[in-house]
Amino acid sequence: MKKDTTIVNAGRHPDRNHGFVNPSITRGSTVVFESMEAFEYAVKNRYDAYIYGRFGTPTSKAFEEAMAELEGGTDTVRSIAVSSGIGAITAVLISHLEAGDHLLAPDNVYGPVRNLSDNLLKRFGVETSFYDPLAGPAIEEQIRENTALIYVEAPGSLTMEMPDVPAITKVARGRGIITAFDNTWATPYFFQPFEHGIDVSIQAATKYIVGHSDAMLGVITMPLKNFEPIKTTANFLGACPAPEDCYLGLRGLRTLGVRLRQHQKNALFVAKWLDDRPEVSRVLYPGLPGNPGHELWKRDFKGATGLLSIVLNDYPKKAVDAMIGGYTLFGLGASFGGYESLVLPVRVDALRTATQWKPEGPGVRFHVGLEDTEDLIADLKAGFERLEAASSGS
Ligand SMILES: *Cc1c(COP(=O)(O)O)cnc(C)c1O
Repeated sequence: MKKDTTIVNAGRHPDRNHGFVNPSITRGSTVVFESMEAFEYAVKNRYDAYIYGRFGTPTSKAFEEAMAELEGGTDTVRSIAVSSGIGAITAVLISHLEAGDHLLAPDNVYGPVRNLSDNLLKRFGVETSFYDPLAGPAIEEQIRENTALIYVEAPGSLTMEMPDVPAITKVARGRGIITAFDNTWATPYFFQPFEHGIDVSIQAATKYIVGHSDAMLGVITMPLKNFEPIKTTANFLGACPAPEDCYLGLRGLRTLGVRLRQHQKNALFVAKWLDDRPEVSRVLYPGLPGNPGHELWKRDFKGATGLLSIVLNDYPKKAVDAMIGGYTLFGLGASFGGYESLVLPVRVDALRTATQWKPEGPGVRFHVGLEDTEDLIADLKAGFERLEAASSGS
């Protein structure tokens, strides 16, 4: 089936729900059994049957089934819903790493992942080194005897560099090293990690899957044979998602296609407009023709979403603050993937350890929402007027 059909139908079982189109929200800890046989069966099949709320509910399983269908099909992969995107990342990393192991992560990795590796993983004896965000086959040079996992993000957080994903996974496969991919930007609607050699796919469903900025949710997807160890770790972490949030994930998923197509259309329009502005030095958006990551993106991805960044020309901080702080439609805040437009300063210069990020001016990230682009452009235009006014007044 085509993806738009899958996202509408996956995980739906009206026959189990008195005919209702959607699953019910099953709240629960205890499950009671009619016989010892039924109890023993559930204990033995604790990840498939219902045994206790932490192991899964009909609502979380419906969401997991739908995500697995979108990631490639329940006959080959399985999804685990957890209570946030970072919970998904932590569960994957500590499932596959142990004391003495080495982790390779991109230098532009989502900030909290660097924090996780510099603190928790380090305390447990795992060493992390960071690789060039534009990595390709050359990543081989950074592999050590004890490298156990290569973490990949495409495009990278905030600065949007595109690595060569198949080149990285080819090297990893050759060395028997596991790869985990954070697919939050593209979602499995626009990028299929398993078709590009990735072993574990991670989704901060908080973003585009939920799609309405009203829940925290994460998803891990892996081939069936790798399911048990990761599920066991997620269980140890107590990372079970609330049934309401799984319901919101499912509900968001049903409209993922139409939303992403519109985000893409709006973002490309805004990116082109920004690219022509005299205040803007560079637009960082792989969906934009001519962008450094565009050819890799075109080869591997089926679409681009609403998140992009820009590098301004060299303006003073107070002028940039006036621009960012004064928008009416672009809300100043973290996250993305909801229906609404957002803006965030990009300040990563001090974070890089393997490479340098020394842009010609301040960076700004935009999430282009589902508003009318004419209104968004007017808001951005007024922002550039604030930028100029505040810098000439200095
Ligand atoms: C937001 C985000 C996460 C973390 O997700 P939460 O649900 O906020 O924990 C992970 N990776 C990327 C790329 C993100 O943008």
